[in-house]
Amino acid sequence: MGNGFFEVPIAVNEPVKSYAPGSPEREEVLKTYKEMYKAKIDVPLFINGKEVKTKETATMSPPHDHKHVLGTYYKATKKNVEEAIETALEARKKWAVMPWEQRAGIFLRAAELLAGPYRAKINAATMLAQSKNIYQAEIDSACELIDFLRFNVQYMTEIYAEQPESTSAAWNRIEYRPLEGFIYAITPFNFTAIAGNLPASAALMGNVVVWKPSNAQIYSAKVIMDVFREAGVPAGVINMVMGDPAMISDTLMASPDFSGVHFTGSTGVFQGIWKNIGDNIKNYKTYPRIVGETGGKDFIVAHKTSNPKQVATAMARGAFEYQGQKCSAASRCYIPKSIWKDVKEYLVDDIRSFKMGTPEDMGNFINAVIHESSFDKLASYIDQAKKDKNVEIIAGGNYDKSKGYFIEPTVIVTKDPKYTTMCTELFGPVLTVYVYDDNKWEETLHLVDETSEYALTGAVFSEDRYALEEAVKILENAAGNFYINDKPTGAVVGQQPFGGARASGTNDKAGSKQNLYRWISPRMVKETFVSPTDYRYPFLG
Ligand code: NAD
Repeated sequence: MGNGFFEVPIAVNEPVKSYAPGSPEREEVLKTYKEMYKAKIDVPLFINGKEVKTKETATMSPPHDHKHVLGTYYKATKKNVEEAIETALEARKKWAVMPWEQRAGIFLRAAELLAGPYRAKINAATMLAQSKNIYQAEIDSACELIDFLRFNVQYMTEIYAEQPESTSAAWNRIEYRPLEGFIYAITPFNFTAIAGNLPASAALMGNVVVWKPSNAQIYSAKVIMDVFREAGVPAGVINMVMGDPAMISDTLMASPDFSGVHFTGSTGVFQGIWKNIGDNIKNYKTYPRIVGETGGKDFIVAHKTSNPKQVATAMARGAFEYQGQKCSAASRCYIPKSIWKDVKEYLVDDIRSFKMGTPEDMGNFINAVIHESSFDKLASYIDQAKKDKNVEIIAGGNYDKSKGYFIEPTVIVTKDPKYTTMCTELFGPVLTVYVYDDNKWEETLHLVDETSEYALTGAVFSEDRYALEEAVKILENAAGNFYINDKPTGAVVGQQPFGGARASGTNDKAGSKQNLYRWISPRMVKETFVSPTDYRYPFLG
């Protein structure tokens, strides 16, 4: 393209559709769900724009109906992964010098494809693959992914516009180069939007990417890849490989051209990746960027002045939407004695009214947890709680994996604020409550701060501004996303940039400019218009 300081469309959040009974979107998504449920698909690797099928395969099933097969995916060999590196580096030669407006055009087109022709498909795929109800699928795989794409384009132009001062004698320019090498994007099962965003944000900034989706999200990852291809992402710019995570990571991180990792997932896996990078540090051509958003043990702390109904609603939604499998999900609550009776009554009533089952039945608020190992882990914590003294289960406590991996939303009340389920990330529909003495507010805030290694999200409820202020101060480092009188989940791109510190990650805030800065390496160019011809300064006389 040509001369002009192009302006991109102003990013606005994609409106969330209602899917109310009788709405056209509800009919369309259900029809698509049924068609996709019956069809069997193949998911090949995507390397250099080509579909690659290998000898080793695995099947994909809905978590709520695990005997049903949705299709097959192919597993990469070491050689495939090496090909993905080569092809990405080859693609880099053209992609890194592509004018930014062309990259913007591709990803804005991807957003528009998701908002329109692919909306029902990406939502139905997420309902099937990750067992999300339609509302959870819509706010994730449609709206959040669209928002990531549109807002990142705008942020990219804002970054490019950041330029240093110049004088009449010298012109200073900063060029925001992509990193030299390739980026490795590793994505989790729980958000289709994150799966799309981690490779796309790096590619938008001019990088080439090898993307490894979670084995439990490959079915909806395929739809993302289809959108990228239709939007015009050139061959080799985003390559998708699936299979053994350790082999894939070892191969990619052994390459001298590895220049960054964009990870979201659990803390243990991220620490292993960091260590792997450290072990290889002498081999790299450039210091790799390490961006990781990891686990959480997110809290709600209520003050005695808070409204019990509001607190109970935040607990019901914050802990149990998407079966508690959001990194931001509330999993430990601190409630003062004086309001506990009311909070408990409202919460238990809400939980009794939840329906659990497949996402296809839209009356279901709760669906299945992601896979058998997650189911077994959650069941074992629930069984242990049934045995432990000082602990009472006041809601749920049952589970059944005969057809799908269903765990009843469970509330544990503990007299020990350091009980294992107050500290450990379980990543499921299990909430633990500690009831504290009303007059121990400050002490309780310190307890909240010191109980877990994580610092992702947290919420405080109070009608007293002094109490709120105390919570804001004492919990300063306890959460990267802190909520006042609201549940700790539901961050929106452009409004609440998301991420946490401590064991929760590098806090590079997905859905903000901060994240995009990690995928560029600025080059300063100073041009002097009339170069000096005498080394002597005036002070030399
Ligand atoms: P996970 O750590 O099991 O998997 C994440 C990714 O890492 C997957 O692609 C997986 O295949 C890969 N992986 C697994 N072992 C690996 C290895 N040895 N080397 C390289 N890659 C490997 O996490 P998950 O179960 O998919 O997701 C849930 C976790 O993600 C929770 O801990 C949750 O808190 C976290 N999460 C955090 C955020 C955030 O923004 N902080 C967002 C979503 C999820």
